[in-house]
Amino acid sequence: MLFRQLVDRETSTYTYLLADEATHDAILIDPVLDQLERDIGLVRDLGLHLAYALDTHVHADHVTALGSLRERLGARTVVSENAGVGCADLRVKDGDTIQFGSHRLEVFATPGHTAACVSYVMSDRTMAFTGDTLLVRGCGRTDFQGGDAHQLYRSVHGKLFTLPPTTLIYPAHDYHGRTATSVDEERRVNPRLGGGKSEAEFVAIMHALALAYPKHMDIALSRNVRCGMATVTGEPEPDKHWAPIEVSATGVPEVAPEWVAAHGQKVRLIDVRDPHELAGELGYIPGAEPLPLAQLPGPLAVAPRDHPIVFVCQSGGRSAKAVLSLATLGFAKVASMSGGMLAWNQRRYPVAR
Ligand code: FE
Repeated sequence: MLFRQLVDRETSTYTYLLADEATHDAILIDPVLDQLERDIGLVRDLGLHLAYALDTHVHADHVTALGSLRERLGARTVVSENAGVGCADLRVKDGDTIQFGSHRLEVFATPGHTAACVSYVMSDRTMAFTGDTLLVRGCGRTDFQGGDAHQLYRSVHGKLFTLPPTTLIYPAHDYHGRTATSVDEERRVNPRLGGGKSEAEFVAIMHALALAYPKHMDIALSRNVRCGMATVTGEPEPDKHWAPIEVSATGVPEVAPEWVAAHGQKVRLIDVRDPHELAGELGYIPGAEPLPLAQLPGPLAVAPRDHPIVFVCQSGGRSAKAVLSLATLGFAKVASMSGGMLAWNQRRYPVAR
């Protein structure tokens, strides 16, 4: 098998090219838009056919090249089914496989860094591409994008650490120039997850990290739910006539809680938080339909494209992703309620519990 590890120095992101040398079928894992020409050049120089471009998760630090690789090389794009990326060709789940030539990757759901992280593991167990779930001597942060330290610990211990000790781990990043590690190495000496650390110890370590907000996060997320494209073919211009729409700095149409309080009954209100949050302290807007972000588009796949929809979440982050994800499916009258349920509660509008 042909194998190349490529790096984007700006974000210390690793991209992996794998190919069957007999059939020339190739895949790219976690390609970076800024390195598009480099990667296309390499695929062409080697005479390969790029069958798939895969992301391990919706990246917050760089824009993905998935959509551009589909457009330029005809690659099929692959992301987790829980990622809210409506434009992906294949939305994969735990146990799915991706075949290229005589080689096969297996999808391991490894949530924790984000709610929708997956790892791609070679079926012969020689290599695992772990995204930000397991890094060399570390792991990805767990404080945004639905991250959860408990889940990350269980993904690593319940899944990745059950691989053979010799399995090589190829992460999505390394900030110190280290290129790979192994299951055995990390199980022994990973300072957060290895050496017999308990789940409680790990959670305490993660909660004690006080990390800065990633610098490209808003731009990266809003592009990455569109497979890295600025717009998606067939994506309508957002309609601004049905409500007093304000477009956020990241291009998300928003309506104010005041407008929702007065006009909410005329639109379809959808709350994209997880069920336990709707039962929690903030409650939910009476009449709002629950539909967790991870399940989008769900029933909306067959909903009329011209009926107004307002998405709600805790603070406006997930509802913004929902809006962008639906825009890729041809919905024009969609908006996020700015400030989410936190803003709604501050204004003492009615809530149901
Ligand atoms: Fe990440």
